[in-house]
Amino acid sequence: MKIVLMGPPASGKGSQATLLEKQFNLPHISTGDMFRSIMTEDTPLGRQVNEYMERAELVPDSVSIEVVQKHLQKPEYKKGFILDGYPRTLYQATELDKIINIDSAILLDVTFEELEERILTRKICKNCGEVYSTKFYKQDNCSICGSVLETRLDDNAETIKHRFIEYLHLTKPVVKYYKSRKKLFVVKGNAPVKEVFENLKELITDND
Ligand code: AMP
Repeated sequence: MKIVLMGPPASGKGSQATLLEKQFNLPHISTGDMFRSIMTEDTPLGRQVNEYMERAELVPDSVSIEVVQKHLQKPEYKKGFILDGYPRTLYQATELDKIINIDSAILLDVTFEELEERILTRKICKNCGEVYSTKFYKQDNCSICGSVLETRLDDNAETIKHRFIEYLHLTKPVVKYYKSRKKLFVVKGNAPVKEVFENLKELITDND
């Protein structure tokens, strides 16, 4: 099962991919996490990635395709994976098709009002990556590992608009691309995490 999980910022891709990873025993590959790790490295690549991520912009295709495609060719992904956050441009999608046959692309469809609220209330555990909403969770530390919760660098009112525009211009065409290849499935993502997960599980089981 080679699955691409798509959706606008804060649509729940990361949370759902983590649950699906456990359910189907498939590795979860988050390109956002990959780049967040690379940006901390004191290397030319780290500094370049840092520049784009600080501005909440996509890392250019010339860099992202090389980094991600090299990673995807590792033997542990031969049997399948859940790819979260990639491809995000049409060029990434067409280049990916040259090396891997993706089985399905699942879009988490969430209204923009809901996304905006999620982004402005999102906190992430520095250590284990667990995601919280300050709307429901009032503590400063993670309930799983106790580490301090922090706000993502790109989760703020100034960058939201920019990230949404980037999604509409660059990533929406990827949704159309998979639709034209009859690989696209849409799941309503406004519902609570568990409900979305049940729908995803059913969809993936039916398509297996
Ligand atoms: P995410 O956690 O998926 O929202 O990604 C965080 C950041 O990582 C993005 O704003 C980009 O700077 C970078 N990134 C993640 N995936 C990609 C991608 N497919 N192409 C380019 N940049 C990416």
